[in-house]
Amino acid sequence: MHANPADNLSELEKLEPLLQRSLRAGGRSFRFPAELERIYRLFIFPSRRRRYAALAVLALVCYDLFIVCDWFILPDIFPIALIVRLLVVTPAILAGIWCTRRKGGARLLEPVAAGLLLLSLASLSLFMVLSRHPNVVHYYSGIAVILMFSNMIIRQPFPYALGVSMAACLLYLVTVGQAPVMSTEAAFSSTTVVFTSALFSLVGNYQMEFEHRRDFLLSALQQISSRKLARMNSQLEHLSLTDGLTGLANRRHFDQTLQREWNVALRNRYPLALVFLDVDHFKNYNDHYGHPAGDVCLQRIGTVLTRVSRRAQDLPARYGGEEFVVLLPHTDLDHACVLAEEIRRDVQGLAIEHHYSAAAPVVTVSLGVAAFVPDKERQADDLVRLADQALYAAKDAGRNRIEIAVAPGAQPADAPST
Ligand code: GH3
Ligand code: MG
Ligand code: MG
Repeated sequence: MHANPADNLSELEKLEPLLQRSLRAGGRSFRFPAELERIYRLFIFPSRRRRYAALAVLALVCYDLFIVCDWFILPDIFPIALIVRLLVVTPAILAGIWCTRRKGGARLLEPVAAGLLLLSLASLSLFMVLSRHPNVVHYYSGIAVILMFSNMIIRQPFPYALGVSMAACLLYLVTVGQAPVMSTEAAFSSTTVVFTSALFSLVGNYQMEFEHRRDFLLSALQQISSRKLARMNSQLEHLSLTDGLTGLANRRHFDQTLQREWNVALRNRYPLALVFLDVDHFKNYNDHYGHPAGDVCLQRIGTVLTRVSRRAQDLPARYGGEEFVVLLPHTDLDHACVLAEEIRRDVQGLAIEHHYSAAAPVVTVSLGVAAFVPDKERQADDLVRLADQALYAAKDAGRNRIEIAVAPGAQPADAPST
């Protein structure tokens, strides 16, 4: 049995067609197909085991309380009844509880329960055969109670319930044949009651078993579809935050993360940096090499950004068109500039031919860098605006370069040292 119920559910998910088929078939048989039956038992065993143990204790207490009835109703065999109840059946039930609670005892649960039920039935039959007291006729009701307990209360699986009920009926027939003081009328009416109790409780048992199995199928299918839904939701969520072309975070993801990181940096008073970059003369590239080649170029730049964003909290994103950003929490201007230069160098190092760029014979990018410790006077958008202004400055200065934005009101320490 898997310790984690989710593992059992994963196994069930593989059996979904089988679950559907079993549900369509109405679940009227007492065994699912082998693989499904195995998992069904894994699911029901923990609660069944607890229920059997609790009910066994209850049954034992009730069974032993009937000693008072023995004393009152069958005084002639009271010592024998006392011995059988306390020294035979009680130890047997205790041993049954003990052995089914041991490791590996789960598979013994139903056979042991059936054996103990038969033993307690046999004890009542014995009292009826041994007693010569006219009250003995009342003991058939004990047999009916045990049958009801077996079939309706502990709800033995139907094949066991059927076996115990048939054995009980047969045993009762033998008992009334042997009981020395049972009148024909009493034998007839009590046999009718025992047989009817067996029949009714078996019908109830059949319905409960059927409903239990159908509920299992329905709840398994429902859990499977909830899991699928949760998975689809998270895929959808991922898609809604991802840029389809480059696989980087999209603008929406960036905007959300920027706001979150801004608030964290504001609270903790650490700097937040942003690198804003744009591909140089990319319109020319598209015009001459074609849009699909332009797409590949953007993808390759995306891989550079992913590579340089080494820390888990660094967020490279496609801002739109051929513009990208890299959000760098807990990063000062110096470090952001080092990273921006790495990006510039690595994009150039991709050596993607671009004969129609005035900046270089290969694809290049221009970058604007901004970084400051957030304060209450500024907004997250100010960081983007500053980096964007620096990017425009880099474009104006000839492209394929980095420009640094100095935040208004920034302390000299905010500015890069080189
Ligand atoms: P500059 O150096 O000033 O940035 O010049 P530029 O040509 O790069 O700038 P411009 O804004 O004029 O052109 C941007 C181009 O980027 C135009 C557009 O076709 C292209 N572009 C935007 N998104 C995509 C895309 O998803 N795929 C491709 N292949 N091209 C794109
Ligand atoms: Mg642009
Ligand atoms: Mg451009």
